[in-house]
Amino acid sequence: MSKVFDLHCHSDQSDGILSPEELVSRAKRQEVDVLALTDHDTTIGLTRAAKKAEEEGIELITGIEFSCQWAGRNIHMLGLNFDLSAQCLKKAVELQAELRETRAVIIADKLAAAGFDGALEGARQFAGSGIIGRPHFAQFMVEKGYCKSVAQCFKKYLGAGKIGDVKQIWPEIEDVVRTVVGAGGVAAIAHPHKYKMTRTKLCAMVTDFKEAGGTAIEVISGQQHRDVTRDLASIARKYELAASCGSDFHAPGNPWQELGRIPSLPEDLTPVWDIWG
Ligand code: AMP
Ligand code: MN
Ligand code: MN
Ligand code: MN
Repeated sequence: MSKVFDLHCHSDQSDGILSPEELVSRAKRQEVDVLALTDHDTTIGLTRAAKKAEEEGIELITGIEFSCQWAGRNIHMLGLNFDLSAQCLKKAVELQAELRETRAVIIADKLAAAGFDGALEGARQFAGSGIIGRPHFAQFMVEKGYCKSVAQCFKKYLGAGKIGDVKQIWPEIEDVVRTVVGAGGVAAIAHPHKYKMTRTKLCAMVTDFKEAGGTAIEVISGQQHRDVTRDLASIARKYELAASCGSDFHAPGNPWQELGRIPSLPEDLTPVWDIWG
């Protein structure tokens, strides 16, 4: 039997629900053999997850999902199997934390201008000890009764092009790719189909990504449609990129994003784990 890899998921150290330990235990129950915890812009959960992984007998790979930008768009970049003690990585993670704080203040100001006070404090409560993100603002808006659901809040206030979508705050794609590669890891463009780019735009981004040292693309993200898989596989082949796969699990109860429940990678592609051996 081949191993089950899930190289994309979130704990409560970013916008997931489970603690790093609970996440690892759930992955084990879901029969995942190799897991990467990829919290947004933080590596803080990795040490705790590694300890639990050793107890549970599951392999844990270092991971992070960097927020960055390309052509003014918000793009997510996975860093996988890097050296956690690398200085360049530590500095980059510190910068992301500062940018998230700056952005949170801007989002709260914009929401206040739209008549919703107290968003910063409210969102921070939902973030707990973890990094603060838009989902925490959405949870605050739902709690206050300003929106019916998190999804509706993204649609009205936080999603692409809405008031809470703060653009051009993140580092460029090239910078985060160099950070990940500099820390001995593999950079993989996360869930490329989610950006709703034309194929021409996506190919232009992949070209810049490759030039900066990027070597992989996430071909499978959760229970996606096979047309998406076919399309992304063709990009991996065209640009000779390794392929990654992950559930993008955030919370129990969503069958589309459950740990370990992901389609297999097309067989002719080189899986990312082959490049780190
Ligand atoms: P941030 O990293 O703070 O910019 O927030 C982005 C995160 O919000 C993503 O990683 C998703 O987990 C979540 N998200 C994005 N769009 C939506 C949506 N339409 N509904 C619910 N959650 C979303
Ligand atoms: Mn998320
Ligand atoms: Mn993402
Ligand atoms: Mn993610």
